[in-house]
Amino acid sequence: MNLAEFIINIESYNANVNIPLIRKAYEFSDTAHQGQKRISGEPFVEHCLEVAFILAEQHMDSTTIAAGLVHDVVEDTDATIKDLNAEFGEEIAELVDGVTKIGAVKYQSREEQQVEYFRKMLLTMSRDIRVILIKLADRLHNMRTLSHLPEPKRLIIAQETKDIYCPLAHRFGIHKIKNELEDLAFKYIHSERYTDLARRLNEKKAERDAYIQEVVEPLLEALGKNGIKAEVHGRAKNLASIERKIKVRKVPFEDIYDLFAIRVIVGNERECYHTLGVLHSMWKPVADRFHDYIANPKPNGYSSLHTTVFGPEQRKIEVQIRTQQMHHIAENGIAAHWLYKEGRQQMSKSDRQMIWLRDVLDWQKDMENPSEFLEYLKIDLFSEDIFVFTPKGEIVHLPKGSSPIDFAYQIHTEVGSHCTGAKINGRLQPLSTKLQSGDSIEIITSPSQTPSRDWLKLVKTANARSRIKRWLKKAGFDQAVNLGRQILERKLKEIRKPMPSDNELQVYATQLERGAALDILAAIGNGSMSMRPLLDLISPPEEKEEAGFVSQVIERIRGSKGIKVGGMDDMMFQFARCCQPVPGEEIIGFITRGRGVTVHTSECDQAIILQDSFPERRIDVEWDKASGQSFVVELELIVEDRKNMLRDITQAISDADTNVRGAEMFARDASAVGRFVIEVADLRHLNQIFDKVRKIKGVISIVRARSNRPS
Ligand code: MN
Repeated sequence: MNLAEFIINIESYNANVNIPLIRKAYEFSDTAHQGQKRISGEPFVEHCLEVAFILAEQHMDSTTIAAGLVHDVVEDTDATIKDLNAEFGEEIAELVDGVTKIGAVKYQSREEQQVEYFRKMLLTMSRDIRVILIKLADRLHNMRTLSHLPEPKRLIIAQETKDIYCPLAHRFGIHKIKNELEDLAFKYIHSERYTDLARRLNEKKAERDAYIQEVVEPLLEALGKNGIKAEVHGRAKNLASIERKIKVRKVPFEDIYDLFAIRVIVGNERECYHTLGVLHSMWKPVADRFHDYIANPKPNGYSSLHTTVFGPEQRKIEVQIRTQQMHHIAENGIAAHWLYKEGRQQMSKSDRQMIWLRDVLDWQKDMENPSEFLEYLKIDLFSEDIFVFTPKGEIVHLPKGSSPIDFAYQIHTEVGSHCTGAKINGRLQPLSTKLQSGDSIEIITSPSQTPSRDWLKLVKTANARSRIKRWLKKAGFDQAVNLGRQILERKLKEIRKPMPSDNELQVYATQLERGAALDILAAIGNGSMSMRPLLDLISPPEEKEEAGFVSQVIERIRGSKGIKVGGMDDMMFQFARCCQPVPGEEIIGFITRGRGVTVHTSECDQAIILQDSFPERRIDVEWDKASGQSFVVELELIVEDRKNMLRDITQAISDADTNVRGAEMFARDASAVGRFVIEVADLRHLNQIFDKVRKIKGVISIVRARSNRPS
């Protein structure tokens, strides 16, 4: 195609096209790409013309067509966005900038990267959705010429087309391009299967065409008698969708081959219904196969009447009935926005597709990891829609498998958050019910109902999921604040200090670099911060209570270092008093209400009980070897009651490079019982001490004190 042919062609699609602009863009592109060739050997500008032509076929505006002509100059030549801005103005420069940015993201099949890719693409598109239309046109031409690339590269591009571009084209209703992309991807990814299927379909082509004619002719005649001017075409299904039916729905090839499809295009909406009546009077309709997408358009704007009839010889024929405009929307989806709207700059912000784009970018913030985002994005992109009704008869579109909770959130966040039950077609049904197309749903709410974590398992829409998560997070915060406040109050009461006012708390929070007063309470409540730094501010250290018994010393002097909880090293935790673990011992943690995490040895009796009773409270903990912390343990000795015994033991322990933090000994009959609180580095160190102490004359036994005090 040369420029002259190109211009004649595009004028046939859009009579108002700005020819001087198109010429200028072509010249610019031709000069910039001068000397560059495609792998096929054609001059590079040929690609730019083809891309622009694909856009023109969709009746796009002159701006987009011009941007299509120069879409590769920034990526592949010395020209810059600035140059484009100077030459063509901001709008075209921004479109090309968007296309270039998407091109710069390297596609990889790893999930995180796929997500990043989608995210960048959606972000760029949310500024101007025409970017994706140019990108799709670019991809389509590249796919059409893919055979020129070496095999491994072909596969990568075909896979990317299937994973990213087909779903997007589908979401935006650009079916014509989506179908072609899908078939081309199928052709390169499963070339044998593709060839086989194409051959089998082709074998029967003449027979099929003859059959379709048997339907088309009498139908046209009948419509003519009813005063309806119509176009009727046999409709070829794309190979990828046939393959999907065979594979996913396990329909044998013969059945699919047996399925005929035609499309009737008439002048207006009224004639659509009239045509349906004529058709149904000629051939019997197949039950449950009628869909009125004129009364209930799909979310991407698609509208048509669908029906299936038993044609001659009782063979099934799928029929679509639509107007020319509906047809244009069905083929071009979002691109149809620019039809006959030369000069319009952007889609309105309230447009459904724009809302969807913004929502997707928003949901992403609430998803925990890339695969969760991708999973929900894919549900949104791929899943078949169902439609259900509100009690007022308004239609709501949802992905297949949605629950009443999805529906409730779709109505309003408040309805979702407080839904307790659902009446489906007048009968009370559980919230776990999977909705079916045509269901009429009434949500029952109660002010006291709040979202539950279990709901996350029931919902299918990213919207509901993200709302529930947001609520839970907020609720978790409120709960943590309450808990933090209670813990602090209790502690302050113990040391006879008044609870600080919110203003005072704010001052402390600032000093501790914790943001707001509520943040500090929440941090204490959820155990992510130890109370000590705050207490030190409220009541300077010298005023604090005296240490009590030996066993109470332990908790106090065992620091808050040395453990990583769930991989993080700033979680509040405490060592269980009952077993006082030291490094080298296997440990497990349990989440303790309001006290962060309590760390036990894995053999501790209490830990075993906790494990049995509250497995959900268990959390992984590990020693933080880098902390250089020493650990306090309590030893219990039984010794002969002799002179200097206490001194000898203290001496032996000190010789092992250990601090004795407390010692007491009392006589019992002929023997004495001693309790020592010592600091050790780890289990090996502790064993050395055991060895040394055991060698002392008169030591009968030495064990670690394992108390049964609850911790
Ligand atoms: Mn290109």
